[in-house]
Amino acid sequence: MSAPTDKDSPKASNFLRQIIERDLSQGTYAQRHWAGRPGDAATHQSGPLDPARIRTRFPPEPNGYLHVGHAKSICLNFGLARDYGGVCHMRFDDTNPEKEEQEYVDAILDAVHWLGFSWDAHGTSHLYQASDYFDFMYRAAEYLIGAGLAYVDEQTPEEMRASRGDFARPGTDSPFRDRSPEENLQRFREMRAGKLPDGAAVLRARIDMASPNINMRDPALYRIKHAQHHNTGSRWCIYPMYTFAHPIEDALENITHSLCTLEFEDQRPFYDWLLDRLREGGLINAPQPRQYEFARLNLTYVLTSKRKLKQLVDEGHVQGWDDPRMPTIVGLRRRGYTPESLQLFSERIGVTKANGWIDFSTLEIALRDDLDPKAARAMAVLDPVQLVIDNWDEAFGLGHLEPCTAPVHPHQPERGQRSFVFGKELWIERGDFEEVPPKGYNRLYPGSRVRLKYGYVVECVGADKDERGEVVAVHARVFPETKSGTPGSDSVKAKGVITWVSAADAVPAQVRLYERLFSVPQPDTGERDFLEELNPDSLKVVAAQVEPSLAQARADDKFQFERHGYFVADRKDHAPGSLVFNRATGLKDTFAR
Ligand code: ATP
Ligand code: MG
Repeated sequence: MSAPTDKDSPKASNFLRQIIERDLSQGTYAQRHWAGRPGDAATHQSGPLDPARIRTRFPPEPNGYLHVGHAKSICLNFGLARDYGGVCHMRFDDTNPEKEEQEYVDAILDAVHWLGFSWDAHGTSHLYQASDYFDFMYRAAEYLIGAGLAYVDEQTPEEMRASRGDFARPGTDSPFRDRSPEENLQRFREMRAGKLPDGAAVLRARIDMASPNINMRDPALYRIKHAQHHNTGSRWCIYPMYTFAHPIEDALENITHSLCTLEFEDQRPFYDWLLDRLREGGLINAPQPRQYEFARLNLTYVLTSKRKLKQLVDEGHVQGWDDPRMPTIVGLRRRGYTPESLQLFSERIGVTKANGWIDFSTLEIALRDDLDPKAARAMAVLDPVQLVIDNWDEAFGLGHLEPCTAPVHPHQPERGQRSFVFGKELWIERGDFEEVPPKGYNRLYPGSRVRLKYGYVVECVGADKDERGEVVAVHARVFPETKSGTPGSDSVKAKGVITWVSAADAVPAQVRLYERLFSVPQPDTGERDFLEELNPDSLKVVAAQVEPSLAQARADDKFQFERHGYFVADRKDHAPGSLVFNRATGLKDTFAR
């Protein structure tokens, strides 16, 4: 086996691990009860002590396919739960009424499973949807109103915006701010009963219009939206705002550590304010969840916004969400990425409190490190030109085919050998012949001696060209005693080594050579629209000739094509008799040079 990669060594610590370890050693959550399902304080109190030492959650909105940034969040949330004897909940954040996108829901669940994680623990499936909590959210809103902590504001949206103030100026109180709880309750119930049109009123928390944190200036809790919801149908015409819904979802699910990206840092005071009030009122379980922020993943040459990725799909810039150039999990999977490579990547980039950019090569290096010990080796000629061994028949007999072998993996002899034949007519890379060799060129040119890997040393004698001057066949003479692995193998000195396949047993294949989808490292940060930064050469399709062992390849199988890089049999289009391989990544990082 090759040297162990850092996935075998202990996990590097980070600020989140330190927080969790501190909470565990102090027993912060040790006395909490868990009813076996999400619920309010009374429900949980009726249950036994929580068997999970911590609870985290992954809460996507089902409005698109997950991308590599989500993979970081999944590996983080599920990984921490696994490492600390906890449970990670899979939660769809579907509080926004919109038409159901079952396609997205299914794809998200599939992506999390494929990455190697499960939401089943202690005999329960921890798969939840936030819209199941609408009843409780409504109850929490009425509680706040009753406690004088929320009011119905009927200012116009423009008035509300104007009275919010800005960083320099404090906000001003709404004329509706001092209505009595009874009046607010009645008005809120009218909102719920559908008596008011969209936009006519919102329920707001009553906190502090002069707070230096604008998020604390009486944020909206509920808005009117006469819309069908995929789960609750037409039962509701008021819907909770994300900032109100999210802390409640966490609390009902007994989440201990609610991890989110840095943009939500300014929301934390409201998160705490809301849960403090609901806990004091006896509505939610104690101790309540805490929010912690980490830096989102920014990866060069990649967009991590579901909305923009959707635009690439909808406008036909790529061939779907699973186009191998897409940074979606389905795209990466089809490109040849493995769950282990994405876990390794997530582990290596770690979590920090400061936003930055990760170079795309970090992702590719993780893939190579994962595939190198796993992938079977094979020879493939991607841009084939014929090589004719002029003295073959006289050296070995008319039509002779000489069996050759090569290891499946150079460092794992137990994986056995691949077999193929050597004969008079071979395929080599077009780039492996030069009529007039550039300086330092050590492959085929008239007079040069080169080893055909696992085969023989040959001497180039020239080439045939067509009327346009293009090479149609290269000619060489074999040294019959130089077969690899025989005593005479180094009786003739070769300047270079090239790969090849034999016309007699090679198999045709379509090979898709992918490059980065964007030509600039940060396609969405400059003046130009990201669509203008698309790389026009991000896909090149070539007709290749590959060694016969690849005829057995099944969809999703990964290989190292010697000299070329790592390739995967396409999940969609590859079939026996119609081979299609995608280049996952080159052998080394050539992009920077
Ligand atoms: P997008 O803008 O692409 O829709 P989002 O954050 O709105 O992303 P959600 O479905 O709300 O998407 O995300 C689910 C979880 O994934 C959230 O907890 C979010 O913090 C996390 N997440 C999303 N993008 C990234 C990223 N680039 N890096 C790390 N975590 C991310
Ligand atoms: Mg979102």
